[in-house]
Amino acid sequence: MKIGFIGLGIMGKPMSKNLIKAGYELTVFDLVAASVEELVKAGAGKASSAKQAAEKSDVIITMLPNSPHVKAAVLGAGGVLEGIASGKTFVDMSSIAPLASREIAAALAEKGVEMLDAPVSGGEPKAIEGTLSIMVGGKKEVFDRCVPFLSKMGSSVVLCGGIGAGNTTKLANQIIVALNIAAMSEAFVLASKSGVDPETLYKAIRGGLAGSTVLDAKAPMVMAGNFKPGFRIELHIKDLANAIETGHEVGVPLPLTSQVMEIMQALKVDGKAGNDHSGIVQFYEKLAKFEARKR
Ligand code: NAD
Repeated sequence: MKIGFIGLGIMGKPMSKNLIKAGYELTVFDLVAASVEELVKAGAGKASSAKQAAEKSDVIITMLPNSPHVKAAVLGAGGVLEGIASGKTFVDMSSIAPLASREIAAALAEKGVEMLDAPVSGGEPKAIEGTLSIMVGGKKEVFDRCVPFLSKMGSSVVLCGGIGAGNTTKLANQIIVALNIAAMSEAFVLASKSGVDPETLYKAIRGGLAGSTVLDAKAPMVMAGNFKPGFRIELHIKDLANAIETGHEVGVPLPLTSQVMEIMQALKVDGKAGNDHSGIVQFYEKLAKFEARKR
């Protein structure tokens, strides 16, 4: 099967490399030429546009930052829609607004192209391992056809409902992750300024009810003061903005999400939008004038 892969950033690079390792013939495209060359070295063919990647492939995957980028790459000049033929499949693995997924699916359907929205959770380490959690929206028969290659990138591939349901599930995921990091940050600054070593705190609580995948992934970064992304605060702001917009559309107030959104906005104003989202702790550290670092 020939796969076109568009968007070779932190996530797209390892995901596309796993597809090559699994034996798929890949044609890749990104606006950054150096990223395309890295994949060519790994065995991919290169396209000079999203349209060309679509012309050469049976399935087209996108892994781009947000709704406007996916719309540009699919519906814009030189985009997927211009190159894709009826009967082919389009899978967007970016985290975007569910409404945008439905708009893109409708435009593709007019050309006889089926779409899945299939955002992921797990970050760069799980993208490298091929153990992402993939949350999918779309028709069951299209999902069944796509599971074989999706499972080369993820260890969990779950159909969540019709088109847009993958991204709705991802928004729920992002609320839980953001609020977890904020809670962890508040607690770590409190405990460490009160004299408890953060590593001792982590060891003491990780096996109890407060233990979590978020704690295991992010507490070591906080303790080391290492905020290299990973998942950038600016991308999490994008997800929370999509969650708040969706909440307004369907009539669900999100008070805690809005508070963490404003914490992230404060960090952005402070020049930290490019930090990993574990950098939320820096907001609390600035308020408390104390860093929760390992001693
Ligand atoms: P990234 O910014 O590292 O990569 C995005 C890539 O898209 C870049 O290489 C950029 O050049 C390319 N791009 C942008 N517009 C383009 C266009 N029109 N045509 C071709 N290429 C284009 O982002 P990322 O961290 O890889 O995240 C991608 C998506 O995955 C986002 O929606 C993000 O929310 C989601 N996600 C990220 C993580 C993470 O930990 N990084 C985890 C889960 C989900």
